[in-house]
This record gives sequence, C-alpha cells and structure tokens, in this order.
Amino acid sequence: MAVPQNRVTRSRRNMRRAHDALVSGNPAECPNCGELKRPHHVCGACGHYDDREVVAMVEEVDIDEDAA
Ligand SMILES: [Zn+2]
Repeated sequence: MAVPQNRVTRSRRNMRRAHDALVSGNPAECPNCGELKRPHHVCGACGHYDDREVVAMVEEVDIDEDAA
C-alpha cells in the first residue's frame, strides 16, 4: 500500500483546500417568462430558447392514481 512520504501540515492542507469552494451558477432571467434559467440552456419553465419554443410544454399532466 502506498504510504505518504511526508506529512502534509495543516497549513499546506488548508492552502490546497482554499480552491475547493463551490461557486454558484450564473442564473439569467428568461426573456419569455422571467424565470431564472441557466445561460445557454432551454428555459425549464416555459421551454423557450432564443425567443422560440423549442420544447413543447404540457399545461398539466393528469395522473390517475386509482386507474386499474
Ligand atoms: Zn422561460
């Protein structure tokens, strides 16, 4: 089994981890519905991209739980 040759000090470990922070996304407002969406991605709320509807949206899906 590989064994570390040298102890990594708290300082060096923490310096390594200084770059590990997660960065938030850069949400942009959808020009069609105003919902926040990822840049260069289809809007998840209205299915629009570049002022066109590219993903058809269904008003409401009726799932009948009791259907036999
Ligand atoms: Zn939208």
